[in-house]
Amino acid sequence: MKVVYVDNNATTKVDEAVFEEMRPYFCELYGNPSSMHFFGGQVQKKIDEARKRTAAILGALPEEIIFTACGTESNNSALRSALEIFPEKRHIVTTRVEHPAVLTPCRNLSKRGYRVTELSVDVNGNLDLDELRAVVDEDTAIVSIMYANNETGVVFPIEEIGAIVKEKGALFHTDAVQAVGKIPMNMATSTVDMLSLSGHKLHAPKGVGALYLRKGVPFRPFMVGGHQERSRRAGTENTAGIIALGKACELAGEFLEEENTKVKALRDRLESEILHLIPNVRVNGGAAVRLPNTTSVAFEFVEGEAILLLLNEKGICASSGSACTSGSLEPSHVLRAMGVPFTCAHGSIRFSLSRFSTDDQISTIIREMPPVIQRLREMSPFGREFLQNK
Ligand code: PLP
Repeated sequence: MKVVYVDNNATTKVDEAVFEEMRPYFCELYGNPSSMHFFGGQVQKKIDEARKRTAAILGALPEEIIFTACGTESNNSALRSALEIFPEKRHIVTTRVEHPAVLTPCRNLSKRGYRVTELSVDVNGNLDLDELRAVVDEDTAIVSIMYANNETGVVFPIEEIGAIVKEKGALFHTDAVQAVGKIPMNMATSTVDMLSLSGHKLHAPKGVGALYLRKGVPFRPFMVGGHQERSRRAGTENTAGIIALGKACELAGEFLEEENTKVKALRDRLESEILHLIPNVRVNGGAAVRLPNTTSVAFEFVEGEAILLLLNEKGICASSGSACTSGSLEPSHVLRAMGVPFTCAHGSIRFSLSRFSTDDQISTIIREMPPVIQRLREMSPFGREFLQNK
């Protein structure tokens, strides 16, 4: 069976050029970059190159990049650092639609006495910037707002948000795990203080990420021990992973335009054909600015999990909500926050494409989707009622 992989917001294929770049750093060039000898030194040089490449995709300086193990670690580090820098400040602002890698640490902090404001979104997934303006105050240590949503692809106006946050003197962190490599960004002219990214979302392997930390912004490390990463993240470097991340960022920069033309055209075709062929379908966040690769489609009167199982039989790998909520029968917290009606939220499927997605794969999905939805609607009481009244 041919695999049609459209779950790239969960994780991506490692680009073969990335794999080739990292390969020598397992069995041949396995030195410790902190060692004094040449054998470690050559690895250090390669890490320096990876840092430059990672910085370049963000328009950042190499010394502003701290390598971490994943997006989750970058997010936790940013939050913890801000609270340690401003021990007198007890307020955190975030949104109801963040990934659990931000929401869970924030909710844990609220149990420890911090005041946490979770901003709401409207039916299109957009934030109300007046609400943000009203809640950030002198007590706010950090505002953490994602660049782009992993479920719907909705992109937040990060620079406008940052301008509001800066007026109030808080630190501004953005979880850009889904945005890096999909939309252009330039930290040199940005209001962002800290930004998280993750290798496995941009064709590098799992187990490597980075935290961008604006030069001059004070920082307290989450991981302490050795002096790696200028004492900002202790622990012997994941050398192969870091080298892979650097190469993946370089390639992501080269493919950025293709992401916004070819990949976007494939996503748009998938979306418009599904809307055309199947009744009672809507695109969650469809009216908002979105990532070029993501679509979250709500099929009324069917269960998302059931759709996924039938698609799975055809070799189509999609997702309902985020990887972290799959397995739960609750509709996703993102769609609930957007006020998507229960009957739609339950039947929502996310298709997320990549530069490896093909026209043929999209045609396969377009062919398989209508009979799958028809079959499931015939099986469900609400679906049958809907089909009879059509
Ligand atoms: N933030 C967002 C928006 C994500 O989509 C994800 C992963 O799905 C993460 C953070 C977590 O990243 P990682 O898997 O590298 O920890």
